[in-house]
Amino acid sequence: MSRKGLLIVISGPSGTGKGTICKELLSRNIPNLELSISVTTRKPRTGEIEGLNYFFKDKTDFIKMIENNEFIEYAKVYDNYYGTPKQYVFDRLNEGKDVILEIDTQGAVNVKNAFDEGILIFIMPPSFEELKNRILNRGTETLEDIKKRLRCANKEIRLSSYYDYLIVNDSIRSAADKIENILQAEKYKMKRVNIDYLNFEEE
Ligand code: 5GP
Repeated sequence: MSRKGLLIVISGPSGTGKGTICKELLSRNIPNLELSISVTTRKPRTGEIEGLNYFFKDKTDFIKMIENNEFIEYAKVYDNYYGTPKQYVFDRLNEGKDVILEIDTQGAVNVKNAFDEGILIFIMPPSFEELKNRILNRGTETLEDIKKRLRCANKEIRLSSYYDYLIVNDSIRSAADKIENILQAEKYKMKRVNIDYLNFEEE
């Protein structure tokens, strides 16, 4: 019995904790679970490493990749381009790896439209007030940026109806537990199993 990997999309508004949930999942050493590495035109932040956090490209190279149809999806998020590299992800799925895409909501909807197989998980903050506090407490954004992210959050939450699963992030550990359970159940879906050993001949 062979199995292609799962394509898992995790998104939610900025400040919702989706990055931390993904890190928690990866730290659990779940067999065959990997995080995809996106391509971006954003400048690397201090400590970010090429090929580990992102593949960093300039706008000209990114546009060339769009023209060559090298992305599963791409989107402009807060003034920069981000895209999911097709070959990289498909190679891993074919090897049986389960691949997480931590991408924005526009990208998630595009994945869903292009590939029915994608499993879309929306991470919701416990409340709008809590989201506001988390962004404020991070202290990394200007007031203008915070307002922009909160306006975006409203739009993103409206897109959550496109998703297959909704997880409220009231605790990182419990949110990660729920995602692990979803992945377990998805693996047993009949449509994902290639039952090539069941070639019974009628007597
Ligand atoms: P950051 O610049 O903080 O790393 O990411 C900003 C936003 O871009 C986050 O919401 C992140 O999920 C999203 N993002 C990262 N990679 C991709 C991608 O490949 N495609 C899309 N559509 N969004 C992405």
